[in-house]
Amino acid sequence: MLLAEELTIRESRRIKAALQMARLSVVKTLSGFDFSFQPSLSERLVRELASLRFVETATNVVLLGPPGVGKTHLASALALAGMEAGYSALFTTLSQLATALDAPTARGGRYGRLQRYIRPHMLIVDEVGYTRLSAEQAHQLFELVTARYERGAMVITSNLSFAEWGGLLGDDVLATALLDRLLHHAEIISINGRSYRMRERMAADTAERSASGVGQKLSAVTDSTSQ
Ligand code: ADP
Ligand code: MG
Repeated sequence: MLLAEELTIRESRRIKAALQMARLSVVKTLSGFDFSFQPSLSERLVRELASLRFVETATNVVLLGPPGVGKTHLASALALAGMEAGYSALFTTLSQLATALDAPTARGGRYGRLQRYIRPHMLIVDEVGYTRLSAEQAHQLFELVTARYERGAMVITSNLSFAEWGGLLGDDVLATALLDRLLHHAEIISINGRSYRMRERMAADTAERSASGVGQKLSAVTDSTSQ
């Protein structure tokens, strides 16, 4: 029993350390994800990903969709599942990554700077699309994707279509070469649904309006205009 307890403590310590190393911005789980809210998303596919075979096979996961549909939630949940299973993970946003890749060359040169992002079993790059990269940053990102190609899984979230990556990288040829490697072994998941944030927002507004009686007046207005 003591041994079992010791193991549990070590295990939770290990996961805690892994969480800190991973720099997860939020801790989200798959069990906290409401699949019924996002019918365009295949629950079966997400559960299959959570089996983490994609980490073994160095398959990338690309989560696409507008804001609020749960891309960051799912990416974090996959990272957490991976760490619980003993894989190393690193979570970053594209803008953080771009800044890090641009930093003055450290000891070990350019490759040394990339190592931190090459080493983990899972590299999560969140929010691809809000940052426009410099030529140097675009080149470094290409180097990173090339280094991880067929060696380590990446989980990427984006609100951009792949056709827009040329603009993001400022170079169509580079974007094509990068996407070629990134998407060769990849699971692409498009979530075309409503924003969960807006749902929460609208629920709050409705509660507020009905509390102040505005809701009744508003619905009276909509009723009369719809006639
Ligand atoms: P995105 O990265 O696509 O913009 P997020 O993953 O940040 O969206 O989701 C926004 C917020 O809504 C987060 O707090 C997230 O946990 C929550 N959320 C999104 N979709 C769901 C869902 N289907 N079930 C439960 N919570 C969700
Ligand atoms: Mg997000």
